Amino acid sequence: MNASAQAQTHEFQAEVKQVLDIVVHSLYTDKEIFVRELVSNASDALEKLRHTQVTEKTIYDEELPLEISISSDDQANTITIQDFGIGMTEEELIENLGRIAHSGSKAFLEAIKKEGATNENLIGQFGVGFYSVFMVAEEVRVFTHSWKPEAQGYCWKSDGSGSYSIEPAEGQRRGTKIVISLKDEYKEFASSDRIKAILERYSSFVPFPVSLNGDSINAVQALWLKNKNEIKDDEYVEFYKFQAKAFDEPQAWMHFSADAPLAINALLFVPGENMERFGFGRMEPGVALYCRKVLIDPSPKELLPEWMRFVKGVIDSADLPLNISRENMQDSALMQKLGAVVTKRFLKFLNEMASKEVEKYESFWKGFSVFLKEGATMDFANREALSKLLRFESSAKDKGTLVSFEDYVSRMPEGQKDIYFVNGTSRESIEAGPYLEAFRAREIEVLFCYEPIDDFVMNHLGSFSEKRLASIDQSDIQLDAVASPDEPESLSEEESKALCEWLKETLGENVSEVSVGNRLVKSPAIVLNADAMMNANMRRMMQAMQGEEASGLKAKVNLQINPHHGLLKNLASLKERDTALAKEVACQIFDSAMVSAGLLEDPQEMVQRMYGLLETVSK
Ligand code: ADP
Ligand code: MG
Repeated sequence: MNASAQAQTHEFQAEVKQVLDIVVHSLYTDKEIFVRELVSNASDALEKLRHTQVTEKTIYDEELPLEISISSDDQANTITIQDFGIGMTEEELIENLGRIAHSGSKAFLEAIKKEGATNENLIGQFGVGFYSVFMVAEEVRVFTHSWKPEAQGYCWKSDGSGSYSIEPAEGQRRGTKIVISLKDEYKEFASSDRIKAILERYSSFVPFPVSLNGDSINAVQALWLKNKNEIKDDEYVEFYKFQAKAFDEPQAWMHFSADAPLAINALLFVPGENMERFGFGRMEPGVALYCRKVLIDPSPKELLPEWMRFVKGVIDSADLPLNISRENMQDSALMQKLGAVVTKRFLKFLNEMASKEVEKYESFWKGFSVFLKEGATMDFANREALSKLLRFESSAKDKGTLVSFEDYVSRMPEGQKDIYFVNGTSRESIEAGPYLEAFRAREIEVLFCYEPIDDFVMNHLGSFSEKRLASIDQSDIQLDAVASPDEPESLSEEESKALCEWLKETLGENVSEVSVGNRLVKSPAIVLNADAMMNANMRRMMQAMQGEEASGLKAKVNLQINPHHGLLKNLASLKERDTALAKEVACQIFDSAMVSAGLLEDPQEMVQRMYGLLETVSK
């Protein structure tokens, strides 16, 4: 039978077509990345074979060495990349090369959906894996034979437009051979010098022998086992790109080894970009686990705490049993110890960066603070170290300057017991709001938080170096009276007391308590949170999460009035002359204070009342 009679044509999945379209109409200036992608796939396939060999008795072409061979032909304008790895069955060809199920391309696609294909910078952050070959290829043929002894050999073929074909192919060795016919304008890649130059940059990180046109071109080495002094910065950078399959440059790395309590060689990288910020899902753990250079798990789930998922790299421990399986790894005490030791070292590394390389740390903080905050709320064992790494703007410093809890504590005057913070949408809104004025008048430093998660962080931490963390809208904060020489005349004590009683009666259930406050300078009134467990932001978040059902979460507030303020002085006499109007004014003062606190839920009633009052004053 004619082989091509058996060729089956398949359409690419719609998403793949989309990726191919972008790849071909090329966003990448860097065409050569396809070499790295294919070599990385070949290396993955060999790694998978190595694992399969542990569990399976019969493997097709068992005796073949675990190697990658590359050949280029500048007459025929082709490059061939062959591995003796795990290979693919027909179903796997369809699944892996016809659909998007794999990591790189999926992330790429999600990012495009979100940002639009126009953002070249963004696109440049991704590898599109196998499909990148169509940047340079006119046609690609993938010859493969799975490790499964009963499987057949196949040839997958496509020009990268809308479809591909698969047909049986006799005489295949185990693994995968990819034959790339180059487009005319990219025939430079058929030159062996060009390919060699590309491969030389990272082939030493490929954990299998690589040859080009028959000559070996790499000495396999595990960079993380080498001595730090012998490694150049660009070797670290290339290693990061290869190992993490990354397209950015790492902003920092930590390379350490220890003999006790465990034998560890670790090389951890902080990426340049926080990929979660681009809006596609949660990252998988990025630190691979090795035992004496042998990969045990490329993405171990239980090794490092969740918040460290942004970290890439390698941990190698000679103390792990080589035959450890991924299943029993999870509850192994050894794994926990290993993870704990590396986490502590990493925190120490960040702490040193924070004190010695302030700018570098702050730029890391900009992109990755969310992970440290998550850690501060979830990682109980490392809470203290994490809390030292947190940074805030502060009322004591200019916009843009960041301070730590330690900075704050070092400036605390004797007698001050709490560390004060406030959460608001921006520095400007905090400074314009009524809460800060009491602290400003007394020159008490307040930390500024701008993100909703900050409240959870503060709440979980509770204190720092035995100083309570207190939100300045909390009603149990006692501040000393400030004597201000030019303070306007105040209501008398009696008048104030009567006004408070009347206000409580008028406002009814809406307030727990009305009192004269010493917190206010310019504002007529504020509401303070009377709920020690939950501040305004947290309540808003709970309400957003639980919707209407959260009615039980109605804010418990105290109203504090400013007896020096003209409005309150007027109100004290208005309530004797015109009770109806005084009641309207009282409600309006209360609602305005609620707005400042971010607690007013439905402004409609207030708006209507306001129109009524305006009508009265404009008579
Ligand atoms: P990723 O490597 O991120 O999974 P790729 O697009 O690079 O994505 O590859 C897609 C899938 O195709 C791989 O996950 C793998 O299952 C399969 N594949 C690619 N190249 C090979 C190969 N040389 N040998 C075996 N399988 C391969
Ligand atoms: Mg890949």
